[in-house]
Amino acid sequence: MNRVEYDTEGVLFNIQRYSLHDGPGIRTIPFFKGCPLACKWCSNPESQRPQPELIYKKNDCIRCGKCIEVCPQNALSPDNPYFVDRERCVQCGECTKVCPTQALEMKGKRMTVNEVIRELQKEENLFRRSGGGVTLSGGEPLAQPEFARELLKACKAKGWHTAIETTGFTTKEVVEDVFPWIDLALTDIKAINPTVHEQNTGVNNSRILENLLRISFITKVIVRIPLVPGVNDNEEEIRSIAEFAKLMSGVDTIHLLPYHTFGENKYTLLGRIYPMGDTPSLAENKIEKLKKIIESMGFHCHIGG
Ligand code: SF4
Ligand code: SF4
Repeated sequence: MNRVEYDTEGVLFNIQRYSLHDGPGIRTIPFFKGCPLACKWCSNPESQRPQPELIYKKNDCIRCGKCIEVCPQNALSPDNPYFVDRERCVQCGECTKVCPTQALEMKGKRMTVNEVIRELQKEENLFRRSGGGVTLSGGEPLAQPEFARELLKACKAKGWHTAIETTGFTTKEVVEDVFPWIDLALTDIKAINPTVHEQNTGVNNSRILENLLRISFITKVIVRIPLVPGVNDNEEEIRSIAEFAKLMSGVDTIHLLPYHTFGENKYTLLGRIYPMGDTPSLAENKIEKLKKIIESMGFHCHIGG
């Protein structure tokens, strides 16, 4: 069915413009809220829960107390080290309306496909001139499958290139429903060892691996490996991932995405503890060594997205 349901609603937490990664040309990236995985190294923790979520930026707070007066749950207090009592907060957003400095902000907004397309349209000329387009990211876009499908159909109706960043954690039916509208899939493989995968992401990888094979027979795929110290930064795991990529149809490129701590501060804004603690970054020579292993197995390998 090609008719686009423009009224379909979903929750996004950001629309990022002018990205040079995540697909060819210049991209605009709608970030979907909600993810079935909970990777310990996630650099977008604000993406994990499906509903809009309150964040508190301590450095922007002028301690005026206006938010405390309006909170119906008594969830705000300067005596709380995180300021917001997450057990009490019901995410009503009332405090954000009175905060003069936007120290309190709701991450996540319900939007229709029509509203998102109006935003994406602003870069239409750039898409055409650069050979770019739209990349769905998150969170996990496939956790909102109808919204993802209708948004992709609307992009294709405009003639734009479409891509998706996905964990692959979904159903066979969703894969078959959504991927015909996608030109390029950027699919993560975090670990082949099922125990390692489950311990570090919260889910078993069997469904993911089945889906990645399926996806590769529908659309072009680039495999991405988030290279994480103590998780998959060893020769055995990297070889296993590359062996699996050989089973997929038409995969010739693997991207290594080395662990970084850019998302650490966001955990504080959300009142959460950073699961990776003080894990150090990977040494350059180790990344290069793992890259060479992938190349020796017949793939192009890029460091970074
Ligand atoms: S979102 Fe609502 S419940 Fe939560 S702190 Fe703000 S006013 Fe209180
Ligand atoms: S209203 Fe904003 S600036 Fe004032 S105390 Fe609350 S968070 Fe801080």
